[in-house]
Amino acid sequence: ESVVNRIAAGEVIQRPVSAVKELIENSLDAKSTSINVVVKDGGLKLIQVSDDGHGIRYEDLPILCERHTTSKLSTFEDLQSIKSMGFRGEALASMTYVAHVTVTTITKGQLHGYRVSYKDGLMEHEPKACAAVKGTQIMVENLFYNMAARRKTLQNSADDYTKIVDVLSRFAIHHTHVSFSCRKHGAARADVHTVASPSRLDAIKTVYGTSVARNLVKVEVSDDDPCSSIFEMNGFISNASYSAKKITMVLYINDRLVECNALKRAIEVVYAATFPKASKPFIYMAIVLPSDHIDVNVHPTKREVTLLNQEVIIGKIQSAVESKLRKSNE
Ligand code: ADP
Ligand code: MG
Repeated sequence: ESVVNRIAAGEVIQRPVSAVKELIENSLDAKSTSINVVVKDGGLKLIQVSDDGHGIRYEDLPILCERHTTSKLSTFEDLQSIKSMGFRGEALASMTYVAHVTVTTITKGQLHGYRVSYKDGLMEHEPKACAAVKGTQIMVENLFYNMAARRKTLQNSADDYTKIVDVLSRFAIHHTHVSFSCRKHGAARADVHTVASPSRLDAIKTVYGTSVARNLVKVEVSDDDPCSSIFEMNGFISNASYSAKKITMVLYINDRLVECNALKRAIEVVYAATFPKASKPFIYMAIVLPSDHIDVNVHPTKREVTLLNQEVIIGKIQSAVESKLRKSNE
């Protein structure tokens, strides 16, 4: 049974970055305002995510890492939105089958926190009282220690660290009310560090640099035509003066970081037609639409989405992008 669990867990957590993404989402769900990530050896030795969120109650610790245990069912009444937003109570459980997981947490009004380690879904010992500041710290150590082949394919730790910085960057420019940092274990300086700020553009500048930020234009679509679809989009897209080696598309749908290849390609087409020289733009887009209009790929790590009335939505975004690009070039 434990082999089956391990293989399933290896599907949910494919690389260190998958664990980081799940841990950050949990910290955001816990209403944190500060999320700090420390990584050792590309995440294979250590991934540590510390937040100042609401913490985990003592009585929830025994089942925290059991499969399909989620505390989020009552918060999200709509089952569809639970499915589409990835609340499935699988992430922490999976990590305990392929790594050593230690949780330190304190809830509001408590004098001390608790620390407990997990293996194969279970607590290794009773929670131990310990000193703790606000929130939760989760340490994932020796990832894939029991999957030799996987460890081997992940030898290039620089590459995995880059992926981790990249995903944290994507969170940081959307959740601008939260401060984020990411550093290598032992490093004095963080590689990404944002402070909570109301300005999305400032956040983009901090994370992606001035050359990206100064070439951005705002783009918006709001659509309440009941015959087509109900959605809103707002974002920032680069103008004709900016082009990188590859397109960066940071896409949020209903506040979740997702991928939509059809939309990405459609936008590339608009750039290629409008500004052939700037066809590798930076794009940040946040789309809001009813959760039953989203279909998330069943594969837990991909987060590739398809939308109901996708052609209509993509068409509207394309024309908004196109008219913005033309205007910015006048
Ligand atoms: P899910 O997020 O789908 O509910 P997870 O396996 O990611 O499942 O997490 C399991 C549960 O652990 C969450 O539902 C939540 O109650 C709790 N949890 C995990 N991380 C945190 C955190 N950083 N702060 C507070 N609670 C957390
Ligand atoms: Mg989760």
